[in-house]
Amino acid sequence: MMGLMKISDIADQVERELVSREEIDRKIAETAKQISHDYAGRDLLLVGVLKGAASTLVALADALSIDVEIDYVKLSSYGAGTESSGTVTVRNDLSCDVRGRNVLVVEDIVDTGRTLAWFCKELDRRGAASVETFALFDKPARRTIDFHPKYQGILIPDVFAVGFGLDYAEKYRNLDSVAVLKPSVYSKETN
Ligand code: 5GP
Repeated sequence: MMGLMKISDIADQVERELVSREEIDRKIAETAKQISHDYAGRDLLLVGVLKGAASTLVALADALSIDVEIDYVKLSSYGAGTESSGTVTVRNDLSCDVRGRNVLVVEDIVDTGRTLAWFCKELDRRGAASVETFALFDKPARRTIDFHPKYQGILIPDVFAVGFGLDYAEKYRNLDSVAVLKPSVYSKETN
């Protein structure tokens, strides 16, 4: 199980904790219960969006009481910084055909909404029988398009978050809760 690095281990880099591990565990347990109920007796393909959603997908799958298939896709999103890269593209595709399948896309966070909206449309285009979404974290203030995940995550303010899969320049993904970093961590990048 991941999640041994705690905020206290990197206290010099962290400004504040944003979401506790207890709150994350509670949201995942509650969502897993709802999904197990909604998809009981039906085929379900969970698709994790790499790299950020890997932690969420494993925790969610562990908490489900129904059998599911699991696949991953890598989409372009943020680069090394904290700004959106614009257009969405598939970097590493799914290994399975989604035609006729019930797909639940699992994301780390929904921000502008562009990535999930684009990928849902792409899954529709490929002939999925149904497409729904769960994003563990949600920044509604940042939305540029009208998009609401079916399974709503933990609402967070308009700040750049790291931990539980969320990175900054590929670091902090294995932090066991979610935090905001000190401005000095970012300014180091440009010095
Ligand atoms: P959207 O297309 O909704 O604007 O962006 C979704 C993607 O942006 C997420 O999958 C994630 O990779 C990245 N992202 C958005 N907000 C944050 C954040 O606060 N922290 C990190 N680490 N990534 C974020």
